[in-house]
Amino acid sequence: MRRPAAPRARRKAAAAPVQRKLLKIDGEPVPVTLKLNPRARQLIVRVHPSTGEVTVVAPSRRSLAHAMEFARKQSDWIAQKLENVPEPVPLGLGRRILYRGESHVIRYGEPGRRPVWIERCEDGERIIRVNGRSEHAARRVLDFLKREARRLLDARAMYYAEVLGVKPSRITVRDTSSRWGSCSSTRNLSFSWRLILAPPFVLEYVVAHEVAHLREMNHGPRFWRLVAELVGNVERPQAWLNEHAALLHRYAPKTVME
Ligand SMILES: [Zn+2]
Repeated sequence: MRRPAAPRARRKAAAAPVQRKLLKIDGEPVPVTLKLNPRARQLIVRVHPSTGEVTVVAPSRRSLAHAMEFARKQSDWIAQKLENVPEPVPLGLGRRILYRGESHVIRYGEPGRRPVWIERCEDGERIIRVNGRSEHAARRVLDFLKREARRLLDARAMYYAEVLGVKPSRITVRDTSSRWGSCSSTRNLSFSWRLILAPPFVLEYVVAHEVAHLREMNHGPRFWRLVAELVGNVERPQAWLNEHAALLHRYAPKTVME
């Protein structure tokens, strides 16, 4: 996927134009979005893991002109990525989703309680109950998942921060396509709301990993020792995420939540 980095354009680029073009792959027209981003180091092709949107980011206007040719050369790679884009699972009544790593079925619940709540039946069946009009069920479930994600991610990040004696400047929860969490040089932590779908040990690992970066802004041996001190085994959650990344992206379309 990588090309040797071209020298960076020094000229200031004008407002980033977004172009849409079609790329023929195996005779099928595939829409491609071309974007200019002066901060990019080289031409890069991306395929969104859940929506299948193909984007080529170009660092300069000059390279933008070669973007389609570049994408064409990556046709096989794009086709393979598109094949892996999973069918989306709507969050409506009767659907099954993962929540905290357990399969839950979404069912109607009598009004009077909260709009959405979790129930566990005697036979072990786990249910996400949602009340109100059925056409609003998916929206309500999504709101619930994001709210729970924010509550839990905030709480766990603050917990690990206290253990390590560090202080994040801001914690954001959003819908990131390629990373589950990140830590910026300005001490901002960012997490994907989809971590609420994964088993607790996975969420714990991602949060501990990013908080540990507030002490060690690298992936050196000291950093990994710190993460292992916080959560023990790090291979198991990493393997789980590698195996289930596409699954977590099946639920609900990409949205941004601050
Ligand atoms: Zn890291």
